[in-house]
Amino acid sequence: MDKIDVMVVWPNRPEQMKILEHTYRLHRYDQASAAEKDVMVREIGARIRAVVTTHGGGFEQSLLDRLPNLEIVTSASVGLDTLCVDGCKARGIPVTNTPDVLTDDVADMAMMLLLATVRRLLPGVNWISSGDWQSKGMMPLNTAIRGKKLGIVGLGRIGKAIARRAEAFGMEVCYYGRKPQADVPYRYFDDLCALAEAVDILAPAVPGGPETEGLISRDVLEAIGPQGYFINIARGSAVDESALVELLQQGRLAGAGLDVFVNEPHVPAALLSMSNVVLQPHCASGTVETRAAMAQLVVDNLAAHFAGKPLLTPV
Ligand code: NAP
Repeated sequence: MDKIDVMVVWPNRPEQMKILEHTYRLHRYDQASAAEKDVMVREIGARIRAVVTTHGGGFEQSLLDRLPNLEIVTSASVGLDTLCVDGCKARGIPVTNTPDVLTDDVADMAMMLLLATVRRLLPGVNWISSGDWQSKGMMPLNTAIRGKKLGIVGLGRIGKAIARRAEAFGMEVCYYGRKPQADVPYRYFDDLCALAEAVDILAPAVPGGPETEGLISRDVLEAIGPQGYFINIARGSAVDESALVELLQQGRLAGAGLDVFVNEPHVPAALLSMSNVVLQPHCASGTVETRAAMAQLVVDNLAAHFAGKPLLTPV
């Protein structure tokens, strides 16, 4: 039987790529130069029945428009902000993502950034490597986590996983969302600025995209206050990044732990030299185990689709 043509906009993990290579005829859009991409789409665009991608690779409307027989888009990501989901929906093309399997790792990253920032992990390392421990003695005291209030913006799968971890650390959890949730024990705020004012640490766990762009505005960041911290594993686009940098520079925020940025992989230069900021290169789900589970969901969703079975994780 002739193999089904699949376009790889962004590759999967090596083990799952082997499965895909064995099962389908792969067209490596990801490996083509700009000119080669254009030729590829012109020559075989009409044969492509599936697209494999991820958040980093995305899937643009302009490419969708050139794939007239596309049946399914599978993305190894939970975030959909780089995919033309609406365009796919308009053509009845299902999109699958990878929820749940990455939730724990992303929540762990949030807690790691929170602890590292508030307990000043990197200044502690520097206190040793600079010789300060020997010349100056004990480093200045830092701040306790226990008893502090954490405000989660967007209490979904990841938000709830962060909340559970924060409770285990003795923190009080509050949240903001578009509506209150009946089955959670945490205090709900219908006003984001009021939440920011009430908490010690604010952490968004909302999706990216136009709906949440700039949601964490200058006013919200200012409301956290000079003793407060900001932790972001969600999306850079959800935050007024210039205001964040400015408030940190002016001491109007105590610190920040950031895994995501507005213009990745570019990070505002000012953040690099701040001792009260901990940075990570958008790698909250970046463990071998989780990336394998995400890649396998891509393989399994494709297999289900072409076997005429229900998709495992449709958007
Ligand atoms: P989820 O279960 O869909 O949770 C998203 C939450 O955000 C929901 O509670 C949702 O509330 C809320 N929300 C959506 N739009 C909102 C708005 N405009 N204002 C306020 N709240 C809003 O998704 P998830 O699995 O937890 O993932 C959340 C996000 O984490 C992803 O979309 C992605 O951007 C980010 N993420 C980052 C990494 C990383 O590597 N750093 C990895 C994975 C995910 P409703 O109930 O009202 O819809």
